Amino acid sequence: MAFRPRYTGLIERYRDRLPVNDDTRIISLGEGNTPLIKLNHIPELTGKNVDIYVKYEGLNPTGSFKDRGMTMAVTQAVNEGAKAIICASTGNTSASAAAYAARAGITAFVLIPDGKIAQGKLAQAMMEGAVVIQIKGNFDDGMRLVKEVAKEAPVTIVNSINPYRLQGQKTAAFEIIEELGRAPDYHCLPVGNAGNITAHWIGYCEYACSDDKTTEACAFCEGNCRFAGGALVGTRPTMVGYQASGSAPFMRGEMVDNPETVATAIRIGHPQSWDYAWKVKAESDGWFDECSDEEILHAQKLLAEKEGVFCEPASATSLAGAMRDIQSGKIRDNSSVVCTLTGHGLKDPDTAIQQSTGPVIKIESTLEQVKKAILDNVD
Ligand SMILES: *Cc1c(COP(=O)(O)O)cnc(C)c1O
Repeated sequence: MAFRPRYTGLIERYRDRLPVNDDTRIISLGEGNTPLIKLNHIPELTGKNVDIYVKYEGLNPTGSFKDRGMTMAVTQAVNEGAKAIICASTGNTSASAAAYAARAGITAFVLIPDGKIAQGKLAQAMMEGAVVIQIKGNFDDGMRLVKEVAKEAPVTIVNSINPYRLQGQKTAAFEIIEELGRAPDYHCLPVGNAGNITAHWIGYCEYACSDDKTTEACAFCEGNCRFAGGALVGTRPTMVGYQASGSAPFMRGEMVDNPETVATAIRIGHPQSWDYAWKVKAESDGWFDECSDEEILHAQKLLAEKEGVFCEPASATSLAGAMRDIQSGKIRDNSSVVCTLTGHGLKDPDTAIQQSTGPVIKIESTLEQVKKAILDNVD
């Protein structure tokens, strides 16, 4: 029997490309190393010949990609001596912050919006012992308060304005390149604060950088490329960011004050990585677009029904947009597309059950009736 070393998280795996040293105490829950699943049935629905892969980030320890950034942010905070961290959150950041704080033995304070947080996420933050502070306001109000209070109280902010978050999150791009052997032609993501699309671009750029830092990619790395070896792939994808129509500041070209969408994880009107995201769009020759709540829920259902992959509504925004752009030809025929599925479907059971159309068949507990139920439903 052949043994493999135990996987111990993305910091260990990408040590030489992350801001840690031999003395760093690493706070990890084994995050990263998520599956890149090639879709079997959905591509043909577009009528085009395109390879679509989904990067299933819902399989991280707390069920979203936020863990990639949180392992790095909490590791850094703890090594600087922090005793408490704080974040504003639409849900997943709070679940992740709570878990990594518990792991580190420090306190997490999480500010969540009144009533607009999916049940699974709230359950996580509460179980993991965070101090949950519900505000009468939305994410953007929470973010403003967190920035203000961090100036006056001993807490470290672990939202994606913390640069260590993006450093951890860039590793998703490394994993994709290493599995495909190259960068995909297009990488599609849902966009809220735009931290994740920025982090992916940093990751792709670092992988494309040459040792002498003379490639185009280094314009984004600004000389910070820590990649040993360099010039490994030389290609970068076109980055495409999709927003929910009711919460689409990048489409409006300005901040949105009262964002609304069923995709609560991206119900953000004042994106924190605004400037970065425009830079990513320009450098990658990419674009932003928006999807309606109906399109988002349709894509979520399609993924579950046709592929067996269950993601939360916000995550499906990447596929909803990609399918439309593949059909229209904006995403070129014969190309490879990666869609990031940012969070797990179990995060938001209420939305899933509300839109499920398949009836639950109710019968007496007899063989005859079970048999009839089967015969009525086989093709
Ligand atoms: C945080 C989050 C997003 C948005 O990511 P940004 O970095 O804020 O753009 C999208 N989907 C899910 C499930 C999230 O938790």
